[in-house]
Amino acid sequence: MSVSQEFYIGQVAPDSAFRAVFHKGRQVSPGMRDEARLNALLAERRRIAERTSTAWRHCLTCGEKFLSEGPHQRLCSRHRAAANAVAPDQAWPSYRARTGM
Ligand SMILES: [Zn+2]
Repeated sequence: MSVSQEFYIGQVAPDSAFRAVFHKGRQVSPGMRDEARLNALLAERRRIAERTSTAWRHCLTCGEKFLSEGPHQRLCSRHRAAANAVAPDQAWPSYRARTGM
């Protein structure tokens, strides 16, 4: 299932005349009766999802191409692991220590 297919139009409540845009079971738009407006909202949500989700991106550290889960993920798996690998008792290196100033 592509990310855009995770969005759909459904009833706000059983027997309700109001419908809304949903994402994975969660309502993400106001309830309304206007089908044209609902369809426009759905199309917009799907367009944004397609544009901002999984894509091949370049690692900010090494420039290598990797499959990123979203715009928040900009490091390849190797550099993500390295960035997270700080021992609990390890102090962050100071600016002076890193630059030798
Ligand atoms: Zn990298």
